[in-house]
Amino acid sequence: MEPKNKRSSIGKKKRARFVLNIDKIRHLSDEEKKRLKEVADIYPFRANDYYLNLINWHDPHDPIRRLIIPHENELNQWGELDASKEHAITVRKGVQHKYGSTVLLLVNEVCAAFCRYCFRKRLFMNGNDEVSYDIEPGIEYIRQHPEVNNVLLTGGDPMILPTPKLEKIIKALREIDHVRIIRIGSKMTAFNPFRFINDPALMEVFKKYSLVDKRIYMVCHFDHPRELTAEARQAVDILLKAGVVCINQNPIIRGISDEPQVMADLWNELSFMGVQQYYVFQCRPTVGNDLYSLPIVEAYRRIEEAKKHCSGLAKRLKYTMSHESGKIEIIGVDKKYIYLKYHRAKHQKDEQRLLVCHRDDSARWLDQLKPVDGYRNDYYQPGYYYLM
Ligand code: SF4
Repeated sequence: MEPKNKRSSIGKKKRARFVLNIDKIRHLSDEEKKRLKEVADIYPFRANDYYLNLINWHDPHDPIRRLIIPHENELNQWGELDASKEHAITVRKGVQHKYGSTVLLLVNEVCAAFCRYCFRKRLFMNGNDEVSYDIEPGIEYIRQHPEVNNVLLTGGDPMILPTPKLEKIIKALREIDHVRIIRIGSKMTAFNPFRFINDPALMEVFKKYSLVDKRIYMVCHFDHPRELTAEARQAVDILLKAGVVCINQNPIIRGISDEPQVMADLWNELSFMGVQQYYVFQCRPTVGNDLYSLPIVEAYRRIEEAKKHCSGLAKRLKYTMSHESGKIEIIGVDKKYIYLKYHRAKHQKDEQRLLVCHRDDSARWLDQLKPVDGYRNDYYQPGYYYLM
């Protein structure tokens, strides 16, 4: 596949400039701006000129447009603000600990742009107070937990932080012996690859702290092959050369990343670039996401169809639901049942556990699935049954 944007020029000192107001988008009519501002008043809009330039404005269903431009359906009453109940695993302000070996530090509450389907959109909304800019309590918590061997910097997008601030965090984590992996969850390679291209000092930080047996991972977030511009490829390349392991994860989103050929093109291209597709997430039932989520059975069918067009390397991904009880992989669907398995579990008793539920083609989340009669139900909530 020849990516549409591959002809972009490399080497010039280009930058992305924020676009924070829908009124500034000249391709939208006055009437559209007025309607969409009502949405953006609740779920904020943020973009930049680089990313907006990827949109084909002649196509009202353009996937990049869908990803970044608000839609009236976001106002549908659907979903919850904190669909995966992250508040229940928050151990300090901005510190989440759900799985023994992994701690999340929420170090920032903004991103280079805002994905409309974001599951943490609550961070961008008025009244949020979940992120901690003071990392010391989080660092101290990790110090006291020797079982933690990997730490995920997230938010928001940590790559928004200035390089000296990022270095301070990375250095503090590297001084803790039991922390082997530092992961950075970031859509910056897609939203603003110049953040990497224009900052050699950042690459020096990565080279210094991504060590032979203690790597830094960049968890990229590409949703669509059209995001793989020449600049994005350059950003990934310099990260790889700085010793950073790059992987990709994204949700399956209606109208953006749900076409089998689009998924196959994305995963194949990423594998050519040296980036493994890690997770494809079921869209969480977060407020505003009614438009964006697909039923589990439909998403599974599309992902399996996409895999037919991929090499083994390109399809090492797991189709997974980030449920409050754990990361649950959807491993199969037949005429009667949906088969799921815990990949990571909040409670030890669920580790690697298989779940069998009646097939329901309209269900979009685990809580909507019904147990298979006869299987024992010993979960802390009614409704989930297990094959023992
Ligand atoms: S990059 Fe991630 S945190 Fe930021 S808006 Fe998109 S999904 Fe949300």
